[in-house]
Amino acid sequence: MTERLYRGRFAPSPTGPLHFGSLVTAVASFLEARSHDGTWLVRIEDLDPLRESPHASEQILASLEAHGLRSDEPVRFQSHRHTHYQQLIDRLLEQGLAYRCTCSRKQLREHDGRHPNHCRQGHARPGERPFAVRFALHDEQSQWQDQLLGPQSQAVHAELDDPVILRKEGFYAYQLAVVADDIDQGITHVVRGSDLLDMTAQQQQIFHALGSAPPHWMHIPVILNAQGQKLSKQNHAPALDDGIAKANLEQALAALGQDPGLLSEAADIDTLLRLAAANWSPERIHLTAR
Ligand code: GLU
Repeated sequence: MTERLYRGRFAPSPTGPLHFGSLVTAVASFLEARSHDGTWLVRIEDLDPLRESPHASEQILASLEAHGLRSDEPVRFQSHRHTHYQQLIDRLLEQGLAYRCTCSRKQLREHDGRHPNHCRQGHARPGERPFAVRFALHDEQSQWQDQLLGPQSQAVHAELDDPVILRKEGFYAYQLAVVADDIDQGITHVVRGSDLLDMTAQQQQIFHALGSAPPHWMHIPVILNAQGQKLSKQNHAPALDDGIAKANLEQALAALGQDPGLLSEAADIDTLLRLAAANWSPERIHLTAR
């Protein structure tokens, strides 16, 4: 069997400007794609207008551009994809692979995560009360291979872990949208932060439910601040200064364990990225900081 061509992506949620942690993820996914002569895409996961700042998408794209990280195909925005997500949700509901859930978080807590309204049996009817749609997981001890972290084993608990795929407020949720677009864009390899490692087994079930094989996965350690917290908007990670893009890239490559000696002759950003791709060694990434 011939291996499909490599298609990778960087898929930020625009909750704030690009910070150093997200640059490291972007660089890793870009270099993995380039070192496989692959295609690299940027996808803006703008699903949640309540958590997104108005200009964050533009800022992120401008920042990526300033760092020489350009999508090989037009940038996709998940906010333009609602019709597709709704079609998939309707199909999953029809197939009994998703269900309407009227439970509040409090109710679920009080019942140890079980649904007192027996939502999985289809007792919640549309129009009755506000409802979310959840994907119906099946019990599984999932075994899979991470391209950096090696063999993984994750327990998936039916009902208790069932992810929301359409929120009560009417927003489409990450777990479905990310899988739907990875399928639609023909993504063969996902490189992302290890903060998403725990989502993987669930997402694999969603891939199968939508009739597709999951991609290859590579989870890279997340960058921590001096307090040992993940760099994120919530922890006030500072926005990258696009005026010192080359220095930022050098720092990102150092954080990924790449050999600075091999890169020292690069005069500009594009040369730096070319050299970094030619010498890219993911096995040099330090795995201590999961
Ligand atoms: N949009 C997600 C985030 O910013 C990443 C999705 C993914 O890489 O699977 O956390």
